[in-house]
Amino acid sequence: MSLTLTVDGPRWRHHLLSTVSANPGIVPVAKGNGYGLTIGRLARRAQWLDDHAEETGSPVDLLAVGTYSELEQAASRFDGDLLVLTPWRPFGVALEVPEALGGRVVHTVSRLADLTALLAREPRARYVLEQLTSMRRHGMTRRELQESADVIRRERLRPPVGVAQHLPLNSASHYGEASRLVNDVVASGLETRTVFVSHLTLDELARLRGAYADFTFRPRIGTELWLGDRAALQVRATVLDVHEVERGDVFGYRARSAPKHGHIVVVSGGTAHGIGLEAPTGDQSLKARAATLARGGLDAVGFVRSPFSIDGKLRLFAEPPHMQASMLFVPSGARVPAVGEEIAVRVRYTATGFDRIVVT
Ligand SMILES: *Cc1c(COP(=O)(O)O)cnc(C)c1O
Repeated sequence: MSLTLTVDGPRWRHHLLSTVSANPGIVPVAKGNGYGLTIGRLARRAQWLDDHAEETGSPVDLLAVGTYSELEQAASRFDGDLLVLTPWRPFGVALEVPEALGGRVVHTVSRLADLTALLAREPRARYVLEQLTSMRRHGMTRRELQESADVIRRERLRPPVGVAQHLPLNSASHYGEASRLVNDVVASGLETRTVFVSHLTLDELARLRGAYADFTFRPRIGTELWLGDRAALQVRATVLDVHEVERGDVFGYRARSAPKHGHIVVVSGGTAHGIGLEAPTGDQSLKARAATLARGGLDAVGFVRSPFSIDGKLRLFAEPPHMQASMLFVPSGARVPAVGEEIAVRVRYTATGFDRIVVT
């Protein structure tokens, strides 16, 4: 009945432990939909990782959440401190942190005005100063960082627990940028020697640690930790119904008609789970469409590729996914799955909500 994520527990836990071993000082990231696994489950797992500190050689004393709204989901399941990745602002949910949690929160501060506003409200607040990177999302420029350092010194404000760099994905190397940013920290005269980083390779981290021996580099890792061993994860949908159709038979919300003989296969998983339309198949030029039409290709009649596959072959949506189910068209000749059978689904984990998560 469900869209189910099955996690091969031993394999997944092994991957988690070895990722922590390879990344001492790691700050696991549990945000959004918890990478498909829910924030609560990841927070419990982060606690479990800390319980295995002797085995990995690295405690997990800090867990990152994305937003202030996510704090509570993590706080009851993880005992350590909680870093909020979204920068603090003098408005909204950032000002509504429950008192009981306040002492465990590490804020991210990305503007000088916010630094003074936060510390005026809460002089004992712990925070990291975010540096602007080539991402240009949030963060202080070199000059703003310098000004912040001056203000902290002059006004004897509580110094930051570290600085934070959020580097882009897939750039050839981050080493140059990361080391320039560390130089900015040194030049600013800030007291901290801790740098929180993202998306650096093990190699780049090792080079930074070598070049700046008095600094501690703490990688924030989400995807590579929780989803780094894809073979440990399996997503399956259930076949809920099967209807044989002849050419011209009408089906679906939009009363389309079947282009040829085959089966409508109704499976669990729809828009409410984050199942969406995929890009149209292949070459969409007129000539290519004419050729597929001549072959009797289904994409030419407007069927769109779905993420569901049967016997290893991706099947087409008979119509756009419904809220909790999807209708696929299986042309005659292909094996028709039985009601109750489970079939594979390709998903984007960060955008999928599962009905059931089973960790073996
Ligand atoms: C999401 C996020 C991360 C983790 O990113 P992954 O690609 O999932 O490892 C690290 N730092 C910041 C600021 C983030 O928002």
